Amino acid sequence: MLQAPGCDEYDPNNLPVEEARRRIAQLVRPVAETETVPLREALDRVLAADVASPLDVPPAANSAMDGYALRGADLPAGGEAVLEVVGTVFAGHPFAGEVGPGQAVRIMTGAPLPRGADTVVMQEHARREGDRVAIGPGHRPGQNVRHAGEDIARGSTVLAAGRRLVPADLGVLASLGVAEVAVRRRPRVAFFSTGDELCPVGEPLAEGQIYDSNRYTLHGLLARLGVEVQDLGLIPDDRAAIEDAFARAAAGADAVITSGGVSVGEADFVKETLEKLGQVNFWKIAMKPGKPLAVGRLGEALFLGLPGNPVSVMATFYQFAQPALRALAGESHTEPLALRVPAAERLRKRPGRTDFQRGVLERDAAGRLVVRSTGAQGSHVLTSMSRANCFIVLPADWGDVEPGTEVEVQPFFGLV
Ligand code: AMP
Ligand code: MG
Repeated sequence: MLQAPGCDEYDPNNLPVEEARRRIAQLVRPVAETETVPLREALDRVLAADVASPLDVPPAANSAMDGYALRGADLPAGGEAVLEVVGTVFAGHPFAGEVGPGQAVRIMTGAPLPRGADTVVMQEHARREGDRVAIGPGHRPGQNVRHAGEDIARGSTVLAAGRRLVPADLGVLASLGVAEVAVRRRPRVAFFSTGDELCPVGEPLAEGQIYDSNRYTLHGLLARLGVEVQDLGLIPDDRAAIEDAFARAAAGADAVITSGGVSVGEADFVKETLEKLGQVNFWKIAMKPGKPLAVGRLGEALFLGLPGNPVSVMATFYQFAQPALRALAGESHTEPLALRVPAAERLRKRPGRTDFQRGVLERDAAGRLVVRSTGAQGSHVLTSMSRANCFIVLPADWGDVEPGTEVEVQPFFGLV
């Protein structure tokens, strides 16, 4: 019997998004090899081992202000205390002597606190008169001092294995004197497009052809993830060519990603090749866009066969390939960041599948963060991805969304 239109929204064979993500995670075997790289090159790389601090940061107590270092006991309870200024201490130049009772030392920000002193009074709160300084009431013993180990204590774990290093991490490692970092080898990812209708860019379009755009979005998505990219080109819907491409891809890669050829009608053909070379399952995911997905192993490599529609490629990449590749790279936390914000307008949705609508996160007239749709949501409308800065994730059982309803969004943050 023919299925009624719309019935497939509730197909019990459709796999929920979370379940698909969980099953893919189980297939990932993180890259084990490590390499040691100079600190600057460690940006965006995944840390291979915990880093414990060899020292206290800051290494010694120092001043948080330009002012006067003194003994907290000399602070006046009321009126003024007049102290003798016995020297000046600059950052990088420790004070040789000691601050005694009734004495103070002129001190600059970052300069080591002289022996005897435990408190700094800002210069704006002091009145200098020759070799004396007058301090008023209202100060607290111990103020304006950065203590040794306040930021990082010696021996503590500063950065844990599995972290992808951000600019602040490079600075933190530098503050420990670390010049080289052990990171995981970058995963090698081979990819190609399939389809007889596809024409490579740079050549004139023949009748019935469209340009192969997926290979370029995939290139961009993979490059942003910092993996080693191996572009195997455009493969026609031809048994021998497909088999050859899969074999070449599997040879040296940690992961193989393809676009197209996994929907009903085409799957049998690709399926045959994949079954011959590895273990691959074909899933229908309860999501929109991006229903068909082929998942498994091709030799030693993780295999993800993404659908062909340009938006479906990006949606399935973001939901499945990105977390899988980040786990493959050795990252321990790979969940996409999610926020909840009100919808600025009505969003159309049919119940049955999780929608990943393209959205624009912006401020409304009152300055509140809201999300609106990019407009037409067809899985072939790739400009909807260009215009979007987030996915609007609408749960499977939801229907239309009324304006003002809180919805979940996944901001792109440059990764898509
Ligand atoms: P398929 O999954 O191969 O059936 O493809 C689904 C739709 O996506 C078809 O309209 C294809 O023409 C289109 N498509 C497949 N591969 C690409 C590609 N590399 N670039 C642009 N469109 C594609
Ligand atoms: Mg095709």
